[in-house]
Amino acid sequence: MNISGKTKIAGIFGHPVEHSLSPAMHNAAFAHLNLDYCYVPFSVAPHLLKQAVESIRALDLAGVNVTVPHKENVLPFLDNVSEDASFIGAVNTIKNINGNLTGYNTDGQGFMQALAEQGIEVKGKRVLMVGAGGAARAVGHCLCKEASSLYLHNRGIERGGALKQHLNSISGNVLSVDDSAIMSRDFLSGMDIIVNATSLGLKSDDPLPLNASLLGDKHVVCDLIYKKTPLLLEASKAGCRTMDGLGMLLWQGVLAFGIWTGVTPPVEVMREALGRGHK
Ligand code: NAP
Repeated sequence: MNISGKTKIAGIFGHPVEHSLSPAMHNAAFAHLNLDYCYVPFSVAPHLLKQAVESIRALDLAGVNVTVPHKENVLPFLDNVSEDASFIGAVNTIKNINGNLTGYNTDGQGFMQALAEQGIEVKGKRVLMVGAGGAARAVGHCLCKEASSLYLHNRGIERGGALKQHLNSISGNVLSVDDSAIMSRDFLSGMDIIVNATSLGLKSDDPLPLNASLLGDKHVVCDLIYKKTPLLLEASKAGCRTMDGLGMLLWQGVLAFGIWTGVTPPVEVMREALGRGHK
């Protein structure tokens, strides 16, 4: 890497960021295209977020990704927020044009691109999504526009109900389901696609987010977590088609790369870099 006075700097603001796979993915893409950019992880403590965003202007960074725990809190510090990110209430990508900062959210589109490249159709399908956090909001925003119905379940009933109401303002096909539904054969057998958008599965001793013994080969089961979670392992055993969160991570990055550079991203180079970092 040849850093000079002309090198444009991109990066990621998170806390923690030590384990982020994004630097490897973006730096591989910049190197492959001979673009004079460099991507740096920045560990930003929550109380310093405002100053960190101001530094994008002060240091003339090209743009940054934003990850946990800043995706929602960053909105007030930006000059513009895209319509999607504003609806979702979270930003994962910031672009800087001469000190004017615009926030975008590429997580939901990233998930849809990951499904599409696997040939998984959402149009007309009945979809169950478990979770109502930031990732669920981004993914739900895209799913509800395509699915025939989107069923939402969340541990916290209020947060789940609020997301249902919010999504229904665009699509009108979102329903809340309770604990008994995700444990019931009748309900689960009526679903086509099941998405775990909770953090259950990050730890090996986490409980499953639903009754996986009721899954069968008609189900497509997706997890937003990057690894083969216990849910995905059980679903594979039951004959389901499965998809982990690595594809979403790739495609949200591909979309962010396009926003910053205006150049067609080298998707396969980025995929390989992610795969190497993930091992
Ligand atoms: P978040 O905002 O903290 O939301 C967490 C969600 O998990 C909430 O719905 C929460 O329910 C639920 N949850 C947490 N612990 C639970 C438990 N013990 N039992 C039942 N539900 C529980 O997090 P997030 O940003 O949405 O991220 C969620 C997951 O998506 C993370 O694992 C993250 O790794 C993954 N993710 C992946 C990508 C990607 O590119 N692949 C991008 C973003 C996120 P309550 O509302 O009841 O607390």
